[in-house]
Amino acid sequence: MSNPIRLVIFGRQGAGKGTQCVRLVERFGLAHISTGDMLRAAVAAETELGLRAKAVMDAGNLVGDEIMNGIVRERLAEDDANTAGFVLDGFPRTSAQAEALVQILGDRTLHGAVNLDVPIAEVTERMMARGREDDTPEAIARRLELYESETRPVLDWFDARDLLVTVDGLGTEAEITERLFAAVDARL
Ligand code: AMP
Repeated sequence: MSNPIRLVIFGRQGAGKGTQCVRLVERFGLAHISTGDMLRAAVAAETELGLRAKAVMDAGNLVGDEIMNGIVRERLAEDDANTAGFVLDGFPRTSAQAEALVQILGDRTLHGAVNLDVPIAEVTERMMARGREDDTPEAIARRLELYESETRPVLDWFDARDLLVTVDGLGTEAEITERLFAAVDARL
């Protein structure tokens, strides 16, 4: 069995992270760990967490660090994450989450963090077109604002450790996948 590959993917909402994560999973056999998907599943199942998270998510705000760190800690302890490796999508989003991730991983080093880069104007247009229930103009604007204020420092943190690679997220799906695979291959 080959060694596990551990990746983080960053990108604004609407950058196409979900789609490209499917490709990464196909190619590298990774577990796709999306905190947004996990929270949406909790909302759908009406668990205690889901009930608490729904209003926060609908407003485009961030669920608390302690809750998120706990969710990720548990998920990363599961077998698939340890054997196949993972692509972490939507976490860490704050400096406190990045610090928790380092602690959670311990001696399991990350291979890299990919920044799927799509400009604000383009993602805004895509989000408006998508018309998902939680995509109100206010929530879209709030998520983009929090990306700059809370997540940008996390990107800088990965960059300072030579872990960050920026992939141009504009183009056809296939073009972007090709760029992404090349970026990941270069980190392995
Ligand atoms: P996403 O699908 O990654 O855009 O996540 C959808 C929503 O879930 C976000 O707008 C946040 O409200 C919440 N969320 C997902 N991941 C996190 C995280 N790491 N920290 C805080 N909130 C999160």
